[in-house]
Amino acid sequence: MTDTAAPRTGTFLTYSPATGKPIAEHPVHGPEEVDRAVSRARVTQGGWAALPASRRRDHLLRWKKALAHRLNAVARTIAEETGKPAGDAALEVVLTLEHLGWAARHAERVLRRRSVGTGLFTVHQRASLVHRPVGVVGVIGPWNYPLYTPMGSIGYALAAGNAVVFKPSELTPGTGVLLAELFDAAVPAHAGLFTTVTGAAGTGDALARSGVDKLAFTGSPGTARKVMAVCAETLTPLLAECGGKDAVIVTGDADLDAAADAIVWGALSNAGQTCAGVERVYAVRDIHAALCEKVAERARAIHPGAETDAGYGPMTLPGRLDVVERHVSGAVAAGARAVLGGAGSVRAPYVTPVVLADVPESAAVMTEETFGPVVAINPVRDVDEAVERANASRYALGAAVFCRGGRAGAAIAARLRAGAVSVNSVLGFAAVPALPFGGSRDSGFGRIHGAEGLRAFTSVQSTTVQRFTPPITLTSFDVPAATRERAVRLARALHRRR
Ligand code: NAD
Repeated sequence: MTDTAAPRTGTFLTYSPATGKPIAEHPVHGPEEVDRAVSRARVTQGGWAALPASRRRDHLLRWKKALAHRLNAVARTIAEETGKPAGDAALEVVLTLEHLGWAARHAERVLRRRSVGTGLFTVHQRASLVHRPVGVVGVIGPWNYPLYTPMGSIGYALAAGNAVVFKPSELTPGTGVLLAELFDAAVPAHAGLFTTVTGAAGTGDALARSGVDKLAFTGSPGTARKVMAVCAETLTPLLAECGGKDAVIVTGDADLDAAADAIVWGALSNAGQTCAGVERVYAVRDIHAALCEKVAERARAIHPGAETDAGYGPMTLPGRLDVVERHVSGAVAAGARAVLGGAGSVRAPYVTPVVLADVPESAAVMTEETFGPVVAINPVRDVDEAVERANASRYALGAAVFCRGGRAGAAIAARLRAGAVSVNSVLGFAAVPALPFGGSRDSGFGRIHGAEGLRAFTSVQSTTVQRFTPPITLTSFDVPAATRERAVRLARALHRRR
């Protein structure tokens, strides 16, 4: 395809973020095609849900195996569409495999029927609950981790017995299409259970209106609000994974080299386009200057580009360059110190590393998601002030703490509002499939990954089975008033005691 190519009617083109050249043409799926995919998914879901859990597990593990076999091809598509280095794309596939494997292997244990205790007036009942699939799950994905992020919903929803219709970002449709092709090839008996539909906002909107039983959205809070308004019309449940403004707290006794190493990676990898990437650092005043120096020294050695030795690639979404430039120049104009780089670091399509210090807390770079290779390091009086500032954000997704001793770090972590915290590492939680992931406030709601991530795509059915006729039946019009009064007296006496 040449760079002068124009999309045909009903199609759109994807472009290489590095060169601007077209990559591929994809159909724009409208409401009709989306509805058709959802109907087909609904037809196949019954058979999938009826399978013994072990059969579903085997099918999903076959899909995982197929993904592992095609790791290079999948990573190539991710790298092409996002611009990220091949090594990063391969790592994304590896993380995805870990999650898919965990979901497939643990769904039966997490979701199977379990008995619960009964109460004073219900000893004659046997009570249990079971998590049943919701039906068809719609998944709307972002472009920054086009495989790993949506798989946090897709893999777990399928493992829980649902069908899935996936709408990838319009920047990364090829990755989504390849994922569905691999599923159909690995699980041919259930073709249609997992479908990818392509397009931009209109296609996502059609999916939100299609009558899916739950929608899992990952993207910006602004889009989440629009999607939620549409879901509200039909009371379609929504899971929202949105942006972050993650903070790292560094205490006076922390290993500064380890902290600097992790901060640089957390802030710069994937060009800073990570929802739980490092954007703010609060360092205790005594070590602030030393930390800034160490971070700048390491960041200086990292450069973006398209070469194999590049630390990270271009900004995937060209429009983000302006946001990064505005955040950096706004901070400097407000009195921040540019320890490394500055507004001049924005050279489309790349942004070289930017390290800022002493940034006013009201600056956009401290309050809005920058989503670029920029980190702000501010001094704080003590850990209390660090916790207060970290929690002051309208986002609450991830966080990290660097200090001596895991126990002290865990105590600080417990005071943070974030949905996930790593002590003495960054993003440690993202690679542990058993750990739920998600945030609150503008970072969204609900959890993917782990047992909660499986349960997120189920609805609970509670059952009681009467074992024998109780001495006091309260659910009958035939109960004499005296019996009812005796029951109330008995309950009151018991509840008054404790
Ligand atoms: P975005 O909000 O622009 O788009 C997300 C998805 O929504 C895309 O597929 C897009 O086509 C679709 N969409 C857009 N308008 C829509 C509408 N009106 N109705 C339905 N769908 C619509 O976000 P993005 O730029 O693709 O992704 C970046 C954002 O995602 C960042 O804020 C990042 O922090 C966040 N993110 C969060 C997580 C997480 O797990 N919390 C993971 C990755 C990315």
